[in-house]
Amino acid sequence: MSIRSGCALCDGDGGIAVHRGELLRVIRVEDADFPAFYRVVWNAHVPELTDLGRDERALLLDAVAIVEGVLRERLAPTKINLASLGNMVPHLHWHVIARFDWDSHFPEPIWGRRQREVLPAAADRLPLGLPQMDTLVRRALEAADR
Ligand SMILES: [Zn+2]
Repeated sequence: MSIRSGCALCDGDGGIAVHRGELLRVIRVEDADFPAFYRVVWNAHVPELTDLGRDERALLLDAVAIVEGVLRERLAPTKINLASLGNMVPHLHWHVIARFDWDSHFPEPIWGRRQREVLPAAADRLPLGLPQMDTLVRRALEAADR
């Protein structure tokens, strides 16, 4: 597996480890504004989706869909945001973010301009806790053998 020293996603998990698979992993990003924020990270250091073969690509995008499915089912967000940028860390990863019409930036992207202050805190507004969400995400990925 290709590893690049100095790359944040090669040097460490990149967040709270939720699931570690052979080819990919899922982490949760600790972000007070966007608590239900997961990343699906390809374990090998490749920059672009088309660096993967067709089967690997399907596996990665299926894992993204599995995470999205759990967020939708358990949190009923206003919208799911999927993003793959990699400008800062050119190591293939997908952001999977539950967005709510009350969140700090909605309808802007999370990297956009803040729209409002949110009280009580975003995590406290979710119908279930983040450790519980992590467990549900992990189980869904394991059930699909990802
Ligand atoms: Zn890397």
